[in-house]
Amino acid sequence: MNLIDDYKRKHDYLRISLTDKCNFNCVYCNPKNHFIKGLQKNYLLTFEEIERIVKLFASKLGFKKIRFTGGEPLVRKDVFKLFEKVGSLKKDYGFKLGVTTNGSLVVNKTGLLKKFGFDNLNISLDTLDKEKFYKITGKDDLEKIIGVIEEAERNGFNPVKVNVVVIKGINDNEIVDFIDYFKNRNVNVRFIEFMPFGSNDWQKNGFISYKEIKESVEKKVKLIPAINEKNAVAKDFQIAEHLGKVSFITSISEHFCSTCNRVRISADGKFRVCLFSQGESYINFKEMFRNGFSDEEIIEKLDLAIKTKWEKHPEPEELANALNNNMMAIGG
Ligand code: SAM
Ligand code: SF4
Repeated sequence: MNLIDDYKRKHDYLRISLTDKCNFNCVYCNPKNHFIKGLQKNYLLTFEEIERIVKLFASKLGFKKIRFTGGEPLVRKDVFKLFEKVGSLKKDYGFKLGVTTNGSLVVNKTGLLKKFGFDNLNISLDTLDKEKFYKITGKDDLEKIIGVIEEAERNGFNPVKVNVVVIKGINDNEIVDFIDYFKNRNVNVRFIEFMPFGSNDWQKNGFISYKEIKESVEKKVKLIPAINEKNAVAKDFQIAEHLGKVSFITSISEHFCSTCNRVRISADGKFRVCLFSQGESYINFKEMFRNGFSDEEIIEKLDLAIKTKWEKHPEPEELANALNNNMMAIGG
């Protein structure tokens, strides 16, 4: 059985948020640091519940990709125990496994991730300037993150994906610097459009579109379109004599809703059929598990929920006013 919505989109990629807490306060994601729900008892899915979710999606719904995210997934206590367990499930079910992290807590652990079977490692890094790094994240960790990207390359993450959220007036003057810096490295730099959420003070004048970002790159280097993976959210390019690809994630200016194959589960167990959902399809794994639902009963509910998925997400101004959204809680 597959999860197919009313627009014939088949879903086979699950992103699971492990926590809505974070050790960083990125200005575009967690500016007010008001997320404290994770401190409540029994708020989070347990590791056993997450393992059951992974098994269910991989074995009964044909899911091919699982990614952990957050908040910062690595702040979750004992998370490597979960990673090892889920890594071992890969052998039975053959999905691809990934994690998106700010990198600060994977220092000296990227080898372990590889050993557990992680295929993909995405590390967020929005500036190459030490002071600006502090201003954006509230942490003085630039060197650490640069170091962990190198460590991940050495440990076989080829490529390491580096996520850069581009914000006008903050880091848009560094776009070409990023490309130069990683020129000889097996790193895929991915420029992400700044997305609005109810709580991130998104301002239209901070937004810079894919076209503008690409134009500023093309003033310096020629971008050669690369073959994109099916269902890819990134537009990939190569540059002559550069080892890694450069990509653009155009969620706002050129949304990729028509080929969306993703569903999400928030840290507290809510099933979300779209990153920007407003609650219309919420079913909660925590509640279903704790009320003794069988896998078959859960699949029936998921099948109903996926049919509520909209054809495409609303316009950015509307999203910016939505109350029910925050990257931290949803799992970006
Ligand atoms: N803490 C981890 C990290 O920073 O990679 C994982 C969670 S974070 C929410 C996942 C991704 O979402 C990161 O690459 C981050 O830069 C991106 N992100 C967060 N807020 C965003 C926003 N408003 N617009 C675009 N991307 C955003
Ligand atoms: Fe934390 Fe990641 Fe959000 Fe930054 S982008 S505040 S590291 S969750």
